Amino acid sequence: MTISRRGFLQSSALAVAASSLPWRALGAQGAQPDLLTLVRGTVGTFTGSGGTIGWHIDTASTVVVDSQFPASAKTCLDAVNGRTSARAIDYLVNTHHHGDHTGGNGVFRPAATHILAHANVPRLQREAAARAAKNAAPGAPAPAEPVVADVLFDTTWKQAVGSEVIALAYYGAAHTSGDAVVTFEKANVVHMGDLVFNRRHPVIDRPGGASIAHWVVVMEQVARAHAADTIYIFGHAGPTFGATGSRADLLHHRDYLTALLEFVRAQIATGAPRETVIRITTPLPGFPDHGPLIERVLTAAYDELTA
Ligand SMILES: [Zn+2]
Repeated sequence: MTISRRGFLQSSALAVAASSLPWRALGAQGAQPDLLTLVRGTVGTFTGSGGTIGWHIDTASTVVVDSQFPASAKTCLDAVNGRTSARAIDYLVNTHHHGDHTGGNGVFRPAATHILAHANVPRLQREAAARAAKNAAPGAPAPAEPVVADVLFDTTWKQAVGSEVIALAYYGAAHTSGDAVVTFEKANVVHMGDLVFNRRHPVIDRPGGASIAHWVVVMEQVARAHAADTIYIFGHAGPTFGATGSRADLLHHRDYLTALLEFVRAQIATGAPRETVIRITTPLPGFPDHGPLIERVLTAAYDELTA
């Protein structure tokens, strides 16, 4: 059989792509591919629906970061239990209060010794639930009471968990007013929660206390606080971008936020009304990977700049 050069290049590219896929452990029977993707050391990710879940599993300890929604939380918990013989999870960490990061808390609660989050997160969960209930259709069933953390921290929290050292830090208002940066010190892996949307327009939760201007500062501080070769886990990513990356990806997100504020500031300076500015759909100059601008981020930037 002959193979064209073009065909050869394509199949070579596929072979390279396959060999560089994230390591995926085999399940206990070696038959099912594991849903838990290793990042480095004892730390990895689970991508079901909603914000990327992080995990640390060694021979004696288990930590899970974020809980997505109930259905995918069950899938994740089953996969974790498959690795750990269903021993207790030492900590479930919530990086922030949003439903695609805490909606599965109730599924993990019976398995987790503690749920850990920034001090503002339970209040933000309850306020968001109250807003959702107020906006619900008449006659809709009352939403369940949020399952909230039982261990809270204000600025930093650090503890050895098995072979790892887990450090949490709160840098102030950014995506919300309760974002925890979760560092696995031995593995040198950091879960950023929604502090990074990798090449995707972010959610900027102003009712939840967000600040784009301070988010830029937080990106700088997190980059400085970690090594040059730290691997970061991102809450969300664009369709062709990964849920993990490097300091360069962190700083790209900082630059996107800076450019968003600059762009909207320039629009306001021309005297353009809010209704016009928030409907702009050209890409943000310099950030074509994010696709056309969307009302969600323009509204947040406009309101922050004119507040
Ligand atoms: Zn979020």
